[in-house]
Amino acid sequence: MRKKIIAGNWKMNKTPSETVALINELKPLVANDEVDVVFCVPAISLTKAIETAEGSNISIGAENMYFEESGAYTGEIAPNMLTDIGVKYVIIGHSERREYFAETDETVNKKVLKAFEHGITPIICCGESLTQREQGITIDWIRQQIKIAFLNVTSKQAKTAVIAYEPIWAIGTGKVATSAQAQEVCHAIRDCIAEIYDEATAEAIRIQYGGSVSAESAPELFAQPDIDGGLVGGASLKPDFGRIVNYNK
Ligand code: PEP
Repeated sequence: MRKKIIAGNWKMNKTPSETVALINELKPLVANDEVDVVFCVPAISLTKAIETAEGSNISIGAENMYFEESGAYTGEIAPNMLTDIGVKYVIIGHSERREYFAETDETVNKKVLKAFEHGITPIICCGESLTQREQGITIDWIRQQIKIAFLNVTSKQAKTAVIAYEPIWAIGTGKVATSAQAQEVCHAIRDCIAEIYDEATAEAIRIQYGGSVSAESAPELFAQPDIDGGLVGGASLKPDFGRIVNYNK
């Protein structure tokens, strides 16, 4: 039985002091032993977030990371900088990073490998555009993203990974995929993992849905057999996130 994992992606929101205030506000609202709860916050707020979340059920994640160990990469964050302060998760290949910061399937793969090397759990994002959905190539596109993201990843590592299926047309648009649409793609992702590895790996890996998840849509989405939780943007900055995390109560 896979444990649900619900992560907030704060994107470029909240200063370090606002981060402390928001975590203190949300802490009592997101208590739910049946769910792994992750707050992915801007790099500059990670230390404060970890200090503030201490003693709670909240784990802290980064929103990005570089794939080299150290060196002349101005502005980038190395994996050991994250582990040094206690970061447990990292979002890799969010569609906004692919669109605005030239992330490719190849850089996603390099970052995924580096995250595993350092014991950080990657939340690996994939998703199709509206045009791709209308052209009927969603599943082919997602399968390609997954196959490249997992190149040279061992089955032992893959079992611990988190995949976030996020249709680009649903991110920040208020246009949530239907539970049937989300389930269809998450099921196809699990099939793809079974093809790359085996059934045991496919059964272990956790697959989230992301894209305008709200307290209203969460219960039906998270009840789907292949959806193991969510990656939540806008609603993760509000008390509503507590209702999303407690979707089963
Ligand atoms: C996201 O940023 O990963 C996301 C799903 O955003 P939103 O929930 O706002 O659509």
